Amino acid sequence: MMTRKVAYITGGAQGIGRGISDYLLARGWRVAVVDIDARAGEQYLASHAATHGEPDSLRVEAVDVRNEDAVAASIAATCQAFGHLDAVINNAAIADPFQGKLEELSLERWHQVLDTSLTSSFLTAKHAAHHLRETGGSIVNLASSRALQSEPDTEAYAASKGGIVALTHAMAMSLGPEIRVNAVSPGWIDVSHLQKDGEAESLSDEDHAQHPVGRVGHVDDIAALVAFLISEKAGFITGQNHVVDGGMTRKMVYVD
Ligand code: NAD
Repeated sequence: MMTRKVAYITGGAQGIGRGISDYLLARGWRVAVVDIDARAGEQYLASHAATHGEPDSLRVEAVDVRNEDAVAASIAATCQAFGHLDAVINNAAIADPFQGKLEELSLERWHQVLDTSLTSSFLTAKHAAHHLRETGGSIVNLASSRALQSEPDTEAYAASKGGIVALTHAMAMSLGPEIRVNAVSPGWIDVSHLQKDGEAESLSDEDHAQHPVGRVGHVDDIAALVAFLISEKAGFITGQNHVVDGGMTRKMVYVD
C-alpha cells in the first residue's frame, strides 16, 4: 500500500492555508492544520466532516505559532498521529499589511507581525527538520509580492515578508540536500469565501482588469504551485521565491 503523504500547515483554518489544505486533502494527502483561531478551526473541521464524514485525514489544533513549545508539541503530535512528515507550509500571518503610520507603529505590534509570520517560519523549520530529513521532505513559506514592492504604512508586514524570502534561501542552504525550501509570494488572492463566517467579497471589473492576466487570484492558483513545490517533480527547485500575482509586479505603474 502506498504511504500517504503528510503536510503541516500553519494558519490553515481559513483563507489560503485552508485552500492549500483542501487542495492537498483532495489529492490524497493527510493534513495537520494549526491555527490560533480555535473557532475557525472548529468550523473547518465541521465543514470537512459534513462532506467527507469523520475525518481521519485532517487534524486541526489550536496553536499560537509564536510559542516555540506549542509549535514543537504540535509537530510531535502530527508525527505521532500520522507516522511521518513530508511537508511544512508556513502560512500563518497577521495578513493585513496596513498596521498604521510608521511614527505611530508600536514596537509591540511590530514584534507581533514579525513573530507571527517570520519567526514562526524559523520555529517550525527548527522542530520539523529532523522529521523532514527522514522523508526527504520540503518546506514552503508564504511570503508576498509586498516583499518586492510597497504602499505606505506597511513596514512591519513588508519586513516580515522580505525576511521570509531571505530565510528561505538561507534554510535551503542549511537543510539541503535532503530538504528543499521555497517561498511563494502571492499577489491579490480573493480568500473571502474561505474566511470564518465569511461571505464572498464582490470584486469590481476594475479590480480584475488591472491585472495583466485580467483577474484577481484564486486560492487554487497558490495551492497548485505549493502542491507542485512539495512534490518530487520539483526536485531541482530550492531556495527560490515564486511570485504568483497575475503579472502585477511586472507592470510599469507611472501615471502618464
Ligand atoms: P488569513 O487571515 O485568511 O489567514 C491567516 C491565518 O493565520 C488565519 O486563519 C489566522 O487565524 C492565522 N493566524 C494568525 N496569527 C496566528 C498565530 N499567532 N498562530 C497561528 N495561526 C495564526 O490570510 P490569507 O489571506 O489567507 O493569507 C495567508 C498567507 O498568505 C499569509 O502569510 C499572507 O501574508 C499571505 N498572503 C496573502 C495574500 C492575499 O491576497 N490573500 C497576498 C499576499 C500574501
